[in-house]
Amino acid sequence: MHSVHNRRIADVTGRVQWWAAAAGQLLWPLACEACGRAIEPGGEGLCEACWQGLLSCTAGSYCRACGLDAGSFGMLEDGCARCRERRPVYDGIARAGVYASTLRDLVLAMKFHDRPELAARLAQWMEAALAAAPFAGRLDAFVPVPLHWRRRLARGFNQSFLLACRLARGRAPVNTDLVRVRHTPSQWTLSTTRRRGNVAGAFAVRRDHDFSGRTLCLVDDITTSGATLNECARVLKQAGAAAVYAVVAAVAMQDTD
Ligand SMILES: [Zn+2]
Ligand SMILES: [Zn+2]
Repeated sequence: MHSVHNRRIADVTGRVQWWAAAAGQLLWPLACEACGRAIEPGGEGLCEACWQGLLSCTAGSYCRACGLDAGSFGMLEDGCARCRERRPVYDGIARAGVYASTLRDLVLAMKFHDRPELAARLAQWMEAALAAAPFAGRLDAFVPVPLHWRRRLARGFNQSFLLACRLARGRAPVNTDLVRVRHTPSQWTLSTTRRRGNVAGAFAVRRDHDFSGRTLCLVDDITTSGATLNECARVLKQAGAAAVYAVVAAVAMQDTD
């Protein structure tokens, strides 16, 4: 009698658990981190289409000096054709891919749909890019591109800081002594020429902080014209940095933004 009763309880509990799981799947089905479509359990965060998209936007070869696609001009020892026209202030760059497809979806979801946890996913590919970069082994610190406090307050986090924390693990510390002293309109809204003027004087190094002789790596989610990275590198070099490199999740091509 007792055991029948127990079995009934077990039955009911089992059924309740099953319904709870089923309802959970309906309410919170496993969703692709990039596009939100339902995915099979074990899909490792992305749907099949988004994995394909990711492969396509991380596959191309790029100029290690400026980060733009190597293109049909090929590579020269010290950069591409564009680099020779306008040398970046930073000394080299590693990128996970181009700002398109899955990388773009992830960056947008992280920043504008309040998904800071996606920094972990993006940092994975940035780590792979960084590991292949010649400067990876000689960094003294990772410096996230700072947000103005007003924007950080509105968003709740600085995505570059989150990415830097991930990349720093087991490598070098994160240094937040580069600050944004001026609130500027978002770079995406401006033309290339206006972007340069937009960030001029926007950054500064905290008072009394010395970067003398240090090798630094700027961290940002995307770079479009390189204007922000250049301005940050300029300020850091002025503060004594020996070399300033950069690592980004995505480089936006001029004609895609
Ligand atoms: Zn997807
Ligand atoms: Zn280049």
